[in-house]
Amino acid sequence: MKKLLSFFFIVVFVFNVDAQKLPNIVILATGGTIAGSAETNVQSGYTSGQVGVEILINAVPQLKDIANVTGEQISNIGSQNMSDVVWLKLAKRINELLAQDDVDGIVVTHGTDTMEETAYFLNLVVKSKKPVVLTCSMRPSTALSADGPLNIYNAVAVAGNKDSWGRGVMVVTNDRIHSGREVVKTSTTAVETFMSPLVGSLGTVNYGTINFVDLPHKVNTSETEFNVDNLSSLPRVDVIAIYEDAPGDLIKAAVDLGAKGIVTSGLGNGNLTDACIEALKYARSKGVVVVRSSRVLTGTTGRNIELDDDALGFVASLELIPSKARVLLRLALLQTSDPVKIQEYYNKY
Ligand code: ASP
Repeated sequence: MKKLLSFFFIVVFVFNVDAQKLPNIVILATGGTIAGSAETNVQSGYTSGQVGVEILINAVPQLKDIANVTGEQISNIGSQNMSDVVWLKLAKRINELLAQDDVDGIVVTHGTDTMEETAYFLNLVVKSKKPVVLTCSMRPSTALSADGPLNIYNAVAVAGNKDSWGRGVMVVTNDRIHSGREVVKTSTTAVETFMSPLVGSLGTVNYGTINFVDLPHKVNTSETEFNVDNLSSLPRVDVIAIYEDAPGDLIKAAVDLGAKGIVTSGLGNGNLTDACIEALKYARSKGVVVVRSSRVLTGTTGRNIELDDDALGFVASLELIPSKARVLLRLALLQTSDPVKIQEYYNKY
């Protein structure tokens, strides 16, 4: 009997030690299609941000085998309505949680529309080497073959893995692990929508099995000088589309409405119509920082290619597409409005 009892205690002890060894992951839900619902499971129309974080977690009971998961609702919105208020709340909560010894990693569920911006923002303002992983879905939670549950499972696996430490903020979707800096939504409807067109993904994750093949290419998270702890707003930066015969009046309007920075979604290597160049000179005369980017999805927008950036006082976005160039400019403007210093940020981040 004694022997049987001690065997029982050993089994209970080993079982408990195993449960304790599982990583503690907090899921912060913000909304999106992953929390969306539709009236039938075969329709394309639906409403984002309907389902709460507990329902998302309970839909994936397999999570308890790989992590101790808890959830918090940060917002429940379609990410087309992502805002500075939610960004700052999310970033501050992530930093608070990651400072705790009993939190090993964070998963953020998010809509796909602005995920490339949120991921890059967090990549610049999270102050920890612990993993932060964003995930999403293209199909609402009620759809046939919903892609959310496996994405959540894979995201928790990546957030709970020691090899994920120090890789910056990541996006896990459709079996791929992307750097938050590189990832871009490339299809309006396909499940295989997120890509890292310039440098490729950081790795893959299949039913929780992770294969990293790369490290982030630029400085991120705890190594950056950006800190949102005491911040309640971000400077206004507008993105202006450039196209055949584009006039300059929208640029002038942005300046007159109080923009502190303008990012141009330019042609080819960030080119601009003459009318837009004149309007951007007006912007410079008012102290507004001008960053040239490109509507072309991949490649580098370089300095002084067909335009004299040095003489015009413009900044080149280099590898950053307009949506990401805008994120960096908003943070850079918190430190300086000197275009030479801001160009250094684009070289570095
Ligand atoms: N509009 C949705 C959102 O960004 C789309 C999605 O999540 O796929 O929240």
